Amino acid sequence: MRVFKFGGASVKDADGVRNVHAVLQKVGFDDVLIVVSAMGKTTNALELVIKNYFDKAKTLQASVQEVKKYHNQIIIDLFDDESHPVFESVNKLFRELDYFLSHNKSPNYSFVYDQIVSMGELISSTILSHYFAHQNIPNNWVDVRNFVKTDSNYRDAGVNWEVTQKNISKGIKKNILNITQGFIGADDNNFTTTLGREGSDYSAAIFAYCLNAESVTIWKDVPGVMNADPRFFENATLLNQISYREAIELAFYGATVIHPKTLQPLQKKEIPLLVKSFINPILPGTKVSKGADLEPHLPCFIIKREQLLLSLSSIDFSFIMEENISEIFKLLHEFKMKVSLIQNSAISFSVCIEDKYKNFEALKTILAKKFKVSYNENVSLYTIRHFDEKSKTAIEKNKNVLLKQISRETLQMVTKEIDG
Ligand code: ADP
Ligand code: ASP
Ligand code: MG
Repeated sequence: MRVFKFGGASVKDADGVRNVHAVLQKVGFDDVLIVVSAMGKTTNALELVIKNYFDKAKTLQASVQEVKKYHNQIIIDLFDDESHPVFESVNKLFRELDYFLSHNKSPNYSFVYDQIVSMGELISSTILSHYFAHQNIPNNWVDVRNFVKTDSNYRDAGVNWEVTQKNISKGIKKNILNITQGFIGADDNNFTTTLGREGSDYSAAIFAYCLNAESVTIWKDVPGVMNADPRFFENATLLNQISYREAIELAFYGATVIHPKTLQPLQKKEIPLLVKSFINPILPGTKVSKGADLEPHLPCFIIKREQLLLSLSSIDFSFIMEENISEIFKLLHEFKMKVSLIQNSAISFSVCIEDKYKNFEALKTILAKKFKVSYNENVSLYTIRHFDEKSKTAIEKNKNVLLKQISRETLQMVTKEIDG
């Protein structure tokens, strides 16, 4: 079997859905399982619904209405006949959302988040399934929650591989086009869980692993994995082949084109990951597989913006050693700060962190009791894998370099833009 993952950008409007159909016509759809994300920016729109819900904001209904209107427009564009069953199927999902919003009693933010945000994928997969049937492609809509079983760590659920494997081996029909949702799963009580933002790639890898698939294809709005994000680098070049190890490194340092958790299950079974263009599906794109590390062998650039550079030094000039460092890391973990770089000297310790959940103020107060705290906000972290003199100079140009770290393969720099 082949597993295809279509992300939000590929199904952001009716033309996108028609294009997915065109891609299937070109590359075939026998023995395919499709994993689809929410359409366009739906997940962000649903995050606003969740915020309004918790803030008891007057705009709650309006934000729900936005999501309804957006999907309605897409189905009106795709299906001329207003009595088509797709309308009722999608309305049913919206009724479930309304019911949840008016009846939920749980104050658990992460639980509520998952019940609401998962609607995006349920709706998009429903629309796709109906549309393909309408185009005479028989298919099977699969509710992923009956297959991908997880713990109850809402918003970042861990997969129960054993049960998931059993469910998928037993329940997925192999000779028909299957369409299911990325990003979501269900816990033991059958409550919906999610695997973390951008987690649909990971869902595709879970299915591929459990099905012993021949390949996974992630369809993108770019020709494949490039040596830099083409939005920010004019001369980004397509990489033809990347080894699992190199791809894991790139994803780890923040190359957003592949979700970091995706590669490990694939590598275990040596299932190739293809990253291809949904605009030009015939082109080969990038293959992540066993083999050459990087072909062509070029410096690869990764930028992480809106980082925080935090430096701690001891108040009494005592050394910052194992004991202090483990305490600092425990706090960073508790406050959900992701660390992307560490540097220390005898009496000072610096980390480049991402404050995704806006916890820095609270953390700072605690740290200030023991350390002298200094920090730079809104810095960027540049990583160059396989750097050379030219790539290094290019990145340093016009920037204030606050911290630099070099290992054999990787150069990292924390920089602040020079104003003006
Ligand atoms: P999806 O619809 O699958 O979620 P994403 O928007 O997450 O797609 O990923 C595609 C985007 O990733 C591209 O539009 C591109 O700007 C960005 N990107 C970042 N780094 C790279 C890279 N190294 N190569 C290609 N694209 C990249
Ligand atoms: N829809 C989810 C998100 O936007 C999952 C995904 O797209 O991979 O984060
Ligand atoms: Mg994505």
